[in-house]
Amino acid sequence: MATKPAHGLATHKKGPSSVSTYKTLDSPVQYVKGVGERMSRVLGKLGIFDVRDLLYHFPRRHEDRSRLARIGNLRGGEEVTVAGTIVAVDNVRPRTGLVITKVAIDDGSGVATLSWFNQHYLKDRFFKMRGREIIAYGTAQVGRWGIEIQSPEWEEFKEDTDPLSAKRVVPVYPLTEGLFQGTMRKIVTNALDGYIDLVPEVLPEDLRDRLDLMDIKEALRNMHFPESMEALEAARRRHVFEELYLLQLALALRKREIDTPGHGISFVIPDNWKETLRSVLPFELTGAQQRVINEIASDMARPDCMNRLLQGDVGSGKTVVALAAILIAAGNGYQSALMAPTEILAEQHYLGLSEMLSSIDIKVDLLIGSMTAREKRAALKRIASGETSLVIGTHALIQESVEFAKLGLVIVDEQHRFGVLQRAALKGKGLNPDVLVMTATPIPRTLTLTVYGDLEISIIDELPPGRKPIKTHWKTADERDRVYQGVRKLIAEGRQAYVVCPLIEESEKLQVKAATEIYEHLASEVFPDLRVSLLHGQMKTWEKEMVMKSFRAGETDILVSTTVIEVGVDVPNASVMVIEDAHRFGLAQMHQLRGRVGRGEYQSYCVLVADANSDDSAARLRVMTQTNDGFTIAEEDLKIRGPGEFYGTRQSGMPALNVTDIFRDIPILELARKEAFEIIKRDPKLTDPSLRALKKDMLKKYKDFQLAAVS
Ligand code: ADP
Ligand code: MG
Repeated sequence: MATKPAHGLATHKKGPSSVSTYKTLDSPVQYVKGVGERMSRVLGKLGIFDVRDLLYHFPRRHEDRSRLARIGNLRGGEEVTVAGTIVAVDNVRPRTGLVITKVAIDDGSGVATLSWFNQHYLKDRFFKMRGREIIAYGTAQVGRWGIEIQSPEWEEFKEDTDPLSAKRVVPVYPLTEGLFQGTMRKIVTNALDGYIDLVPEVLPEDLRDRLDLMDIKEALRNMHFPESMEALEAARRRHVFEELYLLQLALALRKREIDTPGHGISFVIPDNWKETLRSVLPFELTGAQQRVINEIASDMARPDCMNRLLQGDVGSGKTVVALAAILIAAGNGYQSALMAPTEILAEQHYLGLSEMLSSIDIKVDLLIGSMTAREKRAALKRIASGETSLVIGTHALIQESVEFAKLGLVIVDEQHRFGVLQRAALKGKGLNPDVLVMTATPIPRTLTLTVYGDLEISIIDELPPGRKPIKTHWKTADERDRVYQGVRKLIAEGRQAYVVCPLIEESEKLQVKAATEIYEHLASEVFPDLRVSLLHGQMKTWEKEMVMKSFRAGETDILVSTTVIEVGVDVPNASVMVIEDAHRFGLAQMHQLRGRVGRGEYQSYCVLVADANSDDSAARLRVMTQTNDGFTIAEEDLKIRGPGEFYGTRQSGMPALNVTDIFRDIPILELARKEAFEIIKRDPKLTDPSLRALKKDMLKKYKDFQLAAVS
């Protein structure tokens, strides 16, 4: 039972009404003036549940209605907002199945025609609005009857009654069914008026002053209802900075935790290791290889943990760089583990490296899922006893049963095919081993500053001498016979060919079926006189081994394969690759595949057989024919797919960036990175009281980063 207050005065009765007046940013959006229960359900469809969600539901774009375009001045080609009175409405039917609704508006300077396709019901709606003013946004074009705007966005223009959509910069929000711009504008205004004082400022004042960043309240207001386009830009800059600053703080902390000084292994660089390396290599190292090897060696010599990303285009020779690191580790009595994403690649590394290392008495073992239990047991024993110096394998390496005697170096090849957890698991097999991750596809700067922002980066920007750029052609399906004739000619010259089968992502079974069909067709009808083999992921390990061995030895002319050969496979005599149904492949993947040729002295070719069925696929195919440069391709890929889809960023535990435009905002990204890394250097635990709010936000947002030192 409640006790009576000692002072005896009447207390306020706590009821539902006082709950709703107790305002926080976590209050349900329903309590914002003008929302209510029904509208809150509509807002829920947009992911808006509480007041904070609403305040941070930013407009898709803004329209500068303080400077409406005059129809009479338009030249065509520009994106414009115009306002005019509806003077005529009609539906026209230029051919069967097509209805165009045309609406003429007059703004005093001229008349523009707005048109919509196959929405005949619009006619009645506009007809009823004759004589009223509407506002329209779209691309102006010069048509037969003057200025036309196709499929514009529009709304009624109620200048007198609705100050939120009148002569000013007006927000245009992402909407959902049952929600109109006008309503949204009102609700947001009410939320701003009622709650903005509750929004905490997380950026310290001195930082804001120094970098000329708006304070949070002003920035929020201006994100919605900017005083001018300039104010909008400044508000955006503030939000982008905050978003990236939090991210960079998290990255700086993670990096600091990884390389806490003195916790790693200080490898002693053996005096003669470069001679040893040279003695096992059949070629001279390129300048770029030497440079990155030196970078790695000096990392390994430091008492901190190496955490380095080696980036180098397909065929640039990353494997020997890994070998150099392995030699250093072995020279210090440490084991190395090299993890590759496919069994074929692991086997190839195993064959190549064990051959090179046999002369200098370094014991190499292979560990892949398809080995027999007995083989595995024997290998595991040698690994655990320390007899093995280098273990090469697939995901099988991170299985629980794998124990190392003294793991000092972890190398992950084609690292974008692994998730962070898998990399961490392999690292966890040793006691603070050095880590080198390698990737064939260069990573655009935006990602090296974000997702990979806690890694040091080495770049091989030079191919081994004598390589000729691959010539890439795009052919349609009915030109296939000519393509095969070309392949035949190259084989007659002594080369070998890959034919890559269509990608069928939905089902491995279907993919294998397609590959088998193509193989049978080629072997019995097109090239009955040549040696054709088939390779796919469902074959037994020994079968795959045999096929690859025979192809490597030049005993197979044409290898028909699924994407199992996508990464790493290295047969320099193969000089032509035909990719069937190339439109089904992503850019990065095609570039990787293409990298299987052009690895030797011969002029190489890549033929993309595809009937492009969308603008996207045509764009990808065109990029492939235009450039061999992995960097350009990676940037194009990022543009087409967006950063979220890119290189397993989704597995990386990184929350999405909401306001940042990863292409446009690189200067802010660099600034935020510099500031964040500096502050972590000065105040590694973020103990300064002015950083308290910031720290709290960061830890909440980046909880998956497990920032132990500050949490
Ligand atoms: P990637 O960077 O794609 O992993 P690899 O390490 O597989 O490239 O090397 C591609 C090919 O180039 C291999 O056949 C390798 O032996 C060869 N190679 C690597 N470095 C050199 C070099 N410095 N000179 C000549 N050939 C080299
Ligand atoms: Mg490789």
